[in-house]
Order: sequence, then structure tokens, then C-alpha cells
Amino acid sequence: MLFRFPPSGSRRRSEEGRRSGGGFAEGRYARLRSEGIGHRERDARTDRGIRLDDHSERYREEPQVVTTDFSVSDFFSPSHPDGIVRSGDAAIRDLTSRLTEITDSVIRPRVRRTVTEFAEQEIVLKAENGEPIPGKYRQINNPVAKVPQDALGDPEVLEAVLIACAQGGKSRSLANFVASKIVDDPENIIVAYPVESTAKEKAKTDFFPMFKSVDSVRKRVFESATDKHDKTSLMQVRYPGGFLKFPTTASPSQTASTPSGCAIIDEYSRVEDTDEGDPRMALRARMSRFVFYKLIVASTLVGKNCRTMQAYKETDMSVPLLPCPKCGHEHKMTFANIDIGRHLVEKVDDKGNLIVDPETGEFELVPGDINPEDCTYRCPSCSYSMPDSVRYHALEGVLWKQTAPFFCCGRKHKPVVDGNFLGPWDEEGICVCPVCEKRPVGIKDKRGFRWSVLYTKTPLRQVIGVFKEAEKNPVKLQQFWNDWMAEEFEIEAKIAKTGVELLNRAEDYEQIYGPGVEVPEEVLGLFSTLDINSSYGLDFNLRGFGLGEESWGVHYEKILGDVEDWTKDGPWYRAEQLRRQLWHGIRDDEGLRVYRSLLMAVDINDYATVEHGKRYVYPRIGKGVIPIKGRAAGPLWNPTASLLGRHTDAHYPVGSIAGKTIIHGRLRITDDGPGKYHWPADEIDIEGNVVKSHGYGEGYMTELANLKSRPNHSHSNGSPDRFIPEVKSVRQEAWDTEIYILAAVKAYVASKGLRSIDDLKPTWRYLHEIEKEDAVEEKDLVDARRKRPVRVNPNPKKPDGPKPVPVQRDPRARGDRI
Ligand SMILES: [Zn+2]
Ligand SMILES: [Zn+2]
Repeated sequence: MLFRFPPSGSRRRSEEGRRSGGGFAEGRYARLRSEGIGHRERDARTDRGIRLDDHSERYREEPQVVTTDFSVSDFFSPSHPDGIVRSGDAAIRDLTSRLTEITDSVIRPRVRRTVTEFAEQEIVLKAENGEPIPGKYRQINNPVAKVPQDALGDPEVLEAVLIACAQGGKSRSLANFVASKIVDDPENIIVAYPVESTAKEKAKTDFFPMFKSVDSVRKRVFESATDKHDKTSLMQVRYPGGFLKFPTTASPSQTASTPSGCAIIDEYSRVEDTDEGDPRMALRARMSRFVFYKLIVASTLVGKNCRTMQAYKETDMSVPLLPCPKCGHEHKMTFANIDIGRHLVEKVDDKGNLIVDPETGEFELVPGDINPEDCTYRCPSCSYSMPDSVRYHALEGVLWKQTAPFFCCGRKHKPVVDGNFLGPWDEEGICVCPVCEKRPVGIKDKRGFRWSVLYTKTPLRQVIGVFKEAEKNPVKLQQFWNDWMAEEFEIEAKIAKTGVELLNRAEDYEQIYGPGVEVPEEVLGLFSTLDINSSYGLDFNLRGFGLGEESWGVHYEKILGDVEDWTKDGPWYRAEQLRRQLWHGIRDDEGLRVYRSLLMAVDINDYATVEHGKRYVYPRIGKGVIPIKGRAAGPLWNPTASLLGRHTDAHYPVGSIAGKTIIHGRLRITDDGPGKYHWPADEIDIEGNVVKSHGYGEGYMTELANLKSRPNHSHSNGSPDRFIPEVKSVRQEAWDTEIYILAAVKAYVASKGLRSIDDLKPTWRYLHEIEKEDAVEEKDLVDARRKRPVRVNPNPKKPDGPKPVPVQRDPRARGDRI
């Protein structure tokens, strides 16, 4: 039996459509055939997707043919002439609501070819694009990504979440999908990233070179009549049937407002809320007017319960299972199953040829030499240890299985119970209701995939290498679990419970390096900072840096006094004394090694104290002092930055959040080595009194310990800062000074044209050499005569890199040269 909707009917939507906004296209004919078709037999027989507001004619060509299994007489009288229903009929409303359910599973655009089929037929990887394996694209090089990649192009899948590891092929799958869309099913596509620089970089590395090297895409994107110019620099390309844009999620006007039925958000874990809330939710709200929209988020995990994980939990949560090549046991691969040092080799004959059973094609593995470099993957069921070559082969049989519970036939079903994969699943790895034996309706709408590096053809030795490196540093360890293993992992929000806990890490330099040593032997150079506080004076901090930016605190001092006092009794005099002071290192055969601050960063950020800062800093620019201003965003130090605000308060910007992020991670390092922070312990007499202090006391440590990282980097209060003080009243000078010192290191390294501090030659000298030179100058350290701040016009012409800019000194300032 057939019936038709009137072509003149107004837009009808399902009253109880499961997806908000789901409904029928205007003037859409639908023909229903009364023969039954089960859920699992559904093959989308329609040609294209239907969109409510598609203005192009190509979606209005032919009536859509649908098959279903209910009787039309359920809804209206068979006596109705021609079975034509007029809009507004009560029956039609009932009908449409039920039809929505059916069309969800039935009217889907036909799959022309899968993304993988497209990629293997069309894509040729070019060595000049940096492809490790040039030549025809072969999915066999990364078999685990096949199912997720094909799900992206599957018309039945409306939303997909990809949680991939580093080297997991996520970017490749996204690019393949976009290319296949452009060629096979063009429409407007957006690929959004959290920040603009990433969007630009990804467009230029992951997408455009590939488009240019694939003939069918190049013809449409770069050679079509739509757009003769290469507009890749504009981050947007047009092709017949649509456009592709690379906006940032930070700008709702760029993403959610773009009319598009297909949107991808990459690096979703690092996305931040906008005025419109979560960019994925905003996109979904906009896209729901398309019956068949496609919303994809992809990312590695960040910490625990990040956005991507939350999105994944809304899906079918598919997990890849590896069938053991020996016993056939299917299991989820885990890090714990990696064996280190076991070494199996293929059995070879005398000439080194592999011995293969001619009948079965099997070969034998025999134990080789014990080698700690060698890692194998152990089957948890039969304990068979697979070397990489066997594991790579086994990966081709990986099966994706749904793990999310679902409702059907009035009850909840769990495919995985206590870690046991029970199912039942169909051949696509999607659950089947154990009661009605059908695939639950809508279960394929949202698919989620998550795979670790163990599922890729990355040598296990390399994985273990990264793990061993990361083990020493909690921040890197989190990155290892998040990025490589695709596991949720978050280090403690606080670096230490209390300041005292940190204080216990302080070391007695004299005991380690010898009597009188203030600067440990590993230090290559000293760097310092001055933070101005109108309420009490100055904070001075001096730290020595060695290889890998491992650092040793040397001296911290709260210089109390009136910041307007420029006399010998004032804080500035003391600060300059400290800056010029010689600090003792070890004594070797030739004499006593001494160090002096190479570069001091002075914060002139504070409105109340900026004039004082300028008065101290400007005459000393180019002589080991730089003016800086801490600001929240931006890199800790931009090596190409020039002096900002040259005519008013010239300074270099320092990114404080970036600095906090680095230092917060490093303060967790407890083993000596790159990044470790060291402090000198105060000398205490037998009654517990401090005899000699280096300034890193409980107060300083309490300030350091007070800052905790925020979970999930949620920014509901509008602040982009990832760190918040646990106790609000505790000051943050310790943090500020450590950030500025690190900025000074970066500034110095950049100004000397070095790649890193590792390239810095040790800057100590012998005391007897310096004493001769220093005897010459014995003037006042700061000029006490002048009351007015010095006006300086830093030369605007030569800000080459971060090199401190030579100052056009005011003649009146000559007197305070020291
Ligand atoms: Zn096994
Ligand atoms: Zn059921």
C-alpha cells in the first residue's frame, strides 16, 4: 500500500522526535511499503540526506522511497481517496511522529563508498608532505582506525567522538573523511580548533597538502570554476557544493553561526567555553535543523573527566578488542600486559630464512637473547608473548565492540559486566537486544571510539621508552597516560599539601658541595628578579640554572622599606647590591669560583609602582636588567618579542599562566634532573633558631604550595587561569618571582642566540680575576640625588629580538650610571 504526503505541506516536525529538531523536509514525498523490514536488515535505500533548509535543488529531485513494517490503515481510513493525507490532519501528526522513528533508521543517505574505500582508491601519500610511508594510502598500516574512520562517513552516525593516542591516526582519519566529503558528498564543512594558530597549522600540514596531492580533491578545490585562486591562506576553500573552513572554537560567530551540516572539533579537550557555552553543544543546537547532521569531536584526553571523555560517555563507547593469534581470546589491550626483556624471534634456518609451515603458513617463535630493550605484548589468557611483528599482524583482526549499556524491551542491558565482554553484538560490533534480538533504535546515532598506542604499529620499545622517561616527572606521566594510553589520569591538583612538606625538600648546599658554597657546581648561570610592592618594598629572588633548566635557589629576600626611598637606607640600594653581589661557588685548584646575576627581570606591571620600576630599570637596560610585565595569556617568553609601550613604559610581556604551568609541573619533580627545583636549607642551631637564612623559608614555601591546578580547566568564572590559590589571603610573590626568573632565563638564552640553557658555557669566574676589575668602581649603587623619576626614551629603531634594547639615555640620567 502506498500513500503520499502533499507536496504543498508546510514543514512538519515530529512532536516527540527523539532528537530535538528532527523532522521531515518540506514537501517531501514518502512512500511506504507494507512489507516488513527488520531493524537489522535496514539498508538505506534513499539516495541523499534531507535537509530542512537546503536551498540547492539537488535535494529536491525525486521522491524518497522508504520501506517500513506498519500498516497505513493504522492511521487513516482506507476509504480515503488515493490515500492522500492533507496537512493538519490529526492522523498525520501521529504518523509523522512514528515516521521520525522509522526514518531515523531507514531514510539515510546511501553510502557510496566508505572513507577507507575512498582513501585507498584516491589518496597517494607524498614524501614531500612529510609522509613516513609514501605511496598509495593503505589502511593496513593502521587497521585499528578503519572502523572509526568509516563511522565518520557513515550516514547513520550523526555524532562521533574519537579519543585517539598520539600517532593513532586521528588527524589522518579526519583529513580522509573531509576529502571524501568534498568528492563524494559535498556540503559545508567546518573543522574547528581551540586556537587560531593550531587551526592554521593543522590546515597547512594535515589538510591542504593532502588535498593538493589527491587528484579528485584538487580538481574540485583548486581547479574548479568556483574558485580559481588558491585561497588556502585564507583558511577557507570552496568547491562545488560547499566550502571548508577552519575556524576557532573561541569565536562562536565563526563556528556555530556558520551554516553547515558537518562540523568537526579537533583537540576538543582543550576547548574552552564561550559566551554560548560549550562549543559542541552550541554546534549541536544549530545543526539539529539538519535531519542528517554530522558532529565529530576528536582529541587526546586531558586529565580526568575532560570534555572529550564526557562526550565519549554519551556514545556507544566502542572499545577495540585484540584477538590473540594463539588462543583467539579477545581482550582490551592494557599497558600491564607489556613484558619487558622477553625476546622471541622467528625460527630461521641456517641461512637466516624464516621457516614457514607450507601447509598452514605458520611460523614458530623461539626464545632469543634476553634483552631489556625488547618488549613483547602478553595475551592475558594464554600468556603468549607477542613480539611487535606478531602484534602488528594481529591488529588487522581488531574488533570494535560497544560497551555502553542500553535500554530495550523495557530493561537495561549491559554488554560488559565486571570487565567481561559478554555482548551480544552484531557483526558491526553494535549491541543487539538479547530479548527482541534487534539492534536498539538510534543506538548508532552517536558512536565513540577510543584507542591507545598499543593498537598502533608503534614499537613497544618506544612506548616503554616514553614511559620510563615520563615516570620521573608527574606532568609527563600524566601526558603519557593521557596522550599515549588514552587513559584518564590526573596528577594531584597541589604540588604539596603544605609549605612544610616543600621545606623538607630543601638541601644543605654546604654539606653537598663544601663549606661556604652558595651556588652548586651544576649551575651554569644565575638569574634574578625584582618584584615591586608599594605596600612593603621589594622581593628579590636569585636562582641558578643548569642543564635541562634544573635550578637551584640561591637567595630570596623580602627587602622591606619605602619604595620611594632611593637613599642608601632604601630598598633599591639593597636590591642593586644584591644584583651586583658575587655569589660563591665551589673552590677548585685555581681559586674560588664566583657567580653574578646575568640578567634581572624587573616587574613594572603595578600601576602604583611603575614609575619607580622605570627609574631603576631604564638606565640599566642593556646592562643586565630588563623591564617586564606579567600578563595572563601568551607564551612565557616570546623570543621574537620587542619592547612594548616604548614611549610610555617600555617592557617585555611575560605569560604568567604559561610560566605557572611549567613551574607547577616542575615543582612535582622529586628526582634530580631536568626541571627539578632545588632550594638551600637554612642553617639552624641546636635550639632550632635560624642562624643563616637563604630566604626560602616556610613563608615562601607556603606561597608555592598554595597554588593548585583546577580540574578539567573549567573556566566557569570567566578567568582563563588554570591555577587558583587554595587560601586566598596567601600572597603570590614567590610564584611571581619564580615565573619572572624563568622568563629571564629564556630572554637571556634567546638574546645570546642559544637553543637552550644547555648551550650556555658556565659563567662563573675566579674571585681573584674579578676583584681587580671591581676595584675601579666604588660609586653609590643608586642615585640618591634625584627625586624625579628618570625619563627615558628607549631607542625604538633596534628592537632586534629579545636583546635588551640600547637606551637613548637622558643626559640628566648620566649621573646614576654605576
Ligand atoms: Zn592467547
Ligand atoms: Zn529489545
